[in-house]
Amino acid sequence: MEYVDLRSDTVTKPTPEMREAMAEAEVGDDVYMDDPTVNQLQQKAAEMLGKEDALFVPSGTMGNLLALLVHCQRGDEVIVGNKSHIYVNEAGGMSALGGIHPHPIKNQSDGTLALDEILASIQTEDVHHTITRLICLENTQNSCGGVVLPVEYVQAVGKIAHDNNLFLHIDGARIFNAAAALNVSVKALVEPADSVMFCLSKGLVAPVGSMLVGKKKFITRARHLRKMLGGGMRQAGVLAAAGLISLDKMSTRLGQDHARAKSLFEGLKQVRGIKLDASPSSNMVYFDLLDEVKLSVDQIVEEMKARGVLVDWAGPRRFRLVTHYWVDDAGVEKTVKAFGEVMI
Ligand SMILES: *Cc1c(COP(=O)(O)O)cnc(C)c1O
Repeated sequence: MEYVDLRSDTVTKPTPEMREAMAEAEVGDDVYMDDPTVNQLQQKAAEMLGKEDALFVPSGTMGNLLALLVHCQRGDEVIVGNKSHIYVNEAGGMSALGGIHPHPIKNQSDGTLALDEILASIQTEDVHHTITRLICLENTQNSCGGVVLPVEYVQAVGKIAHDNNLFLHIDGARIFNAAAALNVSVKALVEPADSVMFCLSKGLVAPVGSMLVGKKKFITRARHLRKMLGGGMRQAGVLAAAGLISLDKMSTRLGQDHARAKSLFEGLKQVRGIKLDASPSSNMVYFDLLDEVKLSVDQIVEEMKARGVLVDWAGPRRFRLVTHYWVDDAGVEKTVKAFGEVMI
């Protein structure tokens, strides 16, 4: 059976064009910085994000960890959202590997951290306290609904950071989705950030890899730490070749995924037993099951699979559906129809 796979945009397989580019990629040893395709990808990523330099890393998690390790010393504190990927979904890497102390504050329903709460969380100089070093934002904010933090908000947080001698890191795993939703350039959206991580392997459809961008000195140190963590890759140009197509072609089509998320949302309004979150701002549709639904989330997953649709639950009574390159209009229709049958 051919499945419509809405579990995540991480399930995106490379396009035929990507596979061809990968097969033909010019390569070298990237630890020697000799891989022309990786070099090209890094240069292009730096340009698109308006930063001095960039580094190709195996995963978003490693990119975020490197940023934390470069910005912070052991015992330093990082202000993060309590629903952020860095805080919740990266296995506590900052503490385990960096001795870095997270200071979580509430992600509001719009994904933002309240500015006054950020300010109140900055430690004062006191022998009892840690030293606050970094603020992390996530854009789009995944678990708040794939919501988008607007340009002015990011600027306001950047101003707080820099007025207080802190760095700003953006976990922009889906920053191209955020920029597409806002209809601004990624460059404008990340302008206040000292560093940004984004994933090639999600909505941008590449099979592997993420980019870390920032100042030259920052990237030089990150490259050193990447080697330390075992992320120095050799002929990585076979992967970077797909990443170049991500940046050239996939970054400009994300509006289609967002439009399909909206039509999925509209279609699901007719399905009983579910309470949808607000209309999606990017490529994610979240909903809760009403009490009247006696099926468990696992049973629903099974029933949907039997109808050719792969979905994943996001909580004991909650679902997240993610649109991406390999979900077309027919896939959206099929999904709505299948939920209609399952949720009776
Ligand atoms: C996926 C994701 C990451 C990590 O990326 P991996 O490549 O899965 O390690 C980081 N932050 C956010 C918001 C993500 O969605």
